[in-house]
Amino acid sequence: MDYCNTSDLLSLEQALTKMLSQVTPLPATEIVELTDAAGRITASAITSPIAVPPFANSAMDGYAVRCNELSSGMPLPVAGKAFAGAPFKDEWPANTCIRIMTGAPIPQGADTVVMQEQAVISEQGVTFSDNVHIGQNIRLAGEDIQQGAAVFPAGVKLGAAQLPLLASLGIVEITVFRALKVAIFSTGDELQPVGQPLGEGQIYDTNRFAVRLMLQQLGCQIIDLGVIRDDQQALRSAFEQADAVADLVISSGGVSVGEADYTKQILEELGEVGFWTLAIKPGKPFAFGKLKRAWFCGLPGNPVSAALTFYQLVQPLIAKLSGHSGWRPPLRLKAIAATKLKKSPGRLDFQRGIFTTNIHGELEVHTTGHQGSHVFSSFSQGNCFIVLERERGSVAIGETVEIELFNALLA
Ligand code: AMP
Ligand code: MG
Repeated sequence: MDYCNTSDLLSLEQALTKMLSQVTPLPATEIVELTDAAGRITASAITSPIAVPPFANSAMDGYAVRCNELSSGMPLPVAGKAFAGAPFKDEWPANTCIRIMTGAPIPQGADTVVMQEQAVISEQGVTFSDNVHIGQNIRLAGEDIQQGAAVFPAGVKLGAAQLPLLASLGIVEITVFRALKVAIFSTGDELQPVGQPLGEGQIYDTNRFAVRLMLQQLGCQIIDLGVIRDDQQALRSAFEQADAVADLVISSGGVSVGEADYTKQILEELGEVGFWTLAIKPGKPFAFGKLKRAWFCGLPGNPVSAALTFYQLVQPLIAKLSGHSGWRPPLRLKAIAATKLKKSPGRLDFQRGIFTTNIHGELEVHTTGHQGSHVFSSFSQGNCFIVLERERGSVAIGETVEIELFNALLA
């Protein structure tokens, strides 16, 4: 393949379509307790076993009344009290009122709560302002959620916005998809695991660390096979070992065209290559394919390319495999380029940028500087990708560009 000619390279959209149309969500589900459900994905629709609120209750501290008894303007003696957790249960004589607190059940027969700021207390009882409307300050049973109503469909990721709601419904167990099993390894004779001293020509294995972190956030079960040397036999057995235990195998390095890049050859031997090179930058060499059992993604070796291709391609793939149908790509917005951006036409470019709001309230974006695919600090300095279209050239200050805000995987 001519590596300078980019016109025949697959676009990101084509690659995503190809990947996502081939894979189907894992069928296996399990039941977990609510307290263990953070980060899991609902495998069936959840309906509410109860109404919320479960009973009509007061929205204010004040007095429960029968509204028509206010028309005379006469003071109403207080017949009793209703507290949250301690309802009024006695006989309620005509032409009296009940002292009521926020959250207390509305006494039988009451149709209105008058807040205490609209009440004047005297020896004869309580007199209310003229400005009282029937039904006011009552939270009706089922006003938030009716019994049997749909709460979440299948495919929703459960987090701090969802789980407390389920707790409020008294739900203790949920059916979720089984966590995706993902085997990971890095390839390269130069790689040392973090925590070991560096020998001559060695570097630390950044990619496995980055991939692990992102997989943890995505709720995957990780099988870490470590660093695999640039040796055909070692690589073949790593692939076989990974394929035997995982739903998805992710390697990094060895996918370009160097002499020690054996990944493609072994993948062709053990399974099928779906595609190999993409018209994106960074990350032109990104492999997708199928082993005997598991799906396979081969990330490029350069750390920025590895993290970017994971984010743009593996993240949606994992969402689909995990049954996370509610997953949406990170938000894209328009911003004004506040610095020049260097680019050559041919590949969709994901530069790292810092977005801010300028004095006119408009979004603007600066480059993080050096955009080399080995400069990982561009992620920690940045808060967004500057997404530059495939055929676009360099960008001048003041031009409009698209930015994609980092989601929780990178933020
Ligand atoms: P490769 O794709 O194996 O040719 O690697 C491309 C570049 O990325 C080389 O400079 C490698 O040293 C570097 N590299 C490969 N794997 C890793 C890794 N796991 N962590 C950091 N750098 C890596
Ligand atoms: Mg290598």
